[in-house]
Amino acid sequence: MSDASHSYQNRILLRYCLDSGRLLIGQILLGNDYSLRHSDDVERLDLNPHTSASDAREIARYDEKGVFRPLKTAPNLRRGWLLRLSSLEEMELALEYFYPSALGLWNAFLNKKLHATSMTETLNRQTGMYRITQLLTPQQAGELVAQCCTSDGGCLRSILWDRAPGEPLSTLPPSKLSLDDLPSERIPLICRELCNLVVAAARPIAKGNLPKKT
Ligand code: SF4
Repeated sequence: MSDASHSYQNRILLRYCLDSGRLLIGQILLGNDYSLRHSDDVERLDLNPHTSASDAREIARYDEKGVFRPLKTAPNLRRGWLLRLSSLEEMELALEYFYPSALGLWNAFLNKKLHATSMTETLNRQTGMYRITQLLTPQQAGELVAQCCTSDGGCLRSILWDRAPGEPLSTLPPSKLSLDDLPSERIPLICRELCNLVVAAARPIAKGNLPKKT
């Protein structure tokens, strides 16, 4: 399917969400008037207005303290802004800046076309300086994911991959590992494979597993 077709499908899904009151995604509240704001800013009247979808890129770049956000789905989106857009297309684009691929992944999930890759498969295909991450033990893998991916300060995505094929993760609560309990007002953020940030975090741990030189 082409990018244009994907985008069209995402807009249909977004339209459906707006019409059915599914207005929360990550830390953002969507409005039927094509507005977006931080979900904790509903009561605020002093929000900084923006009118361009590309402003979402800047808003998403730094946290409240001005620190760069390498992971856009970390629960540290800054507050105080109001994006007032004029079309569904612009809203879809803004969401792509805030939460990359969120609509596309959910679309794939709904159409049973989402292919999740287990953690061991992702680590086994690493090359170069990250090849060493293949030395991670199952226990280290579970602990690393529990620390990096927890919704409580780590990442808001729901993890749909296993630690190894057929072996679910056991170090995160079941609600983090499925969309079964997705609230009806929420658009999910899906993780279909280990991201580069967690692969990078695995490297120093795996290095400690190298045999000691005598
Ligand atoms: S692996 Fe997925 S859930 Fe974990 S931090 Fe990366 S994107 Fe988030």
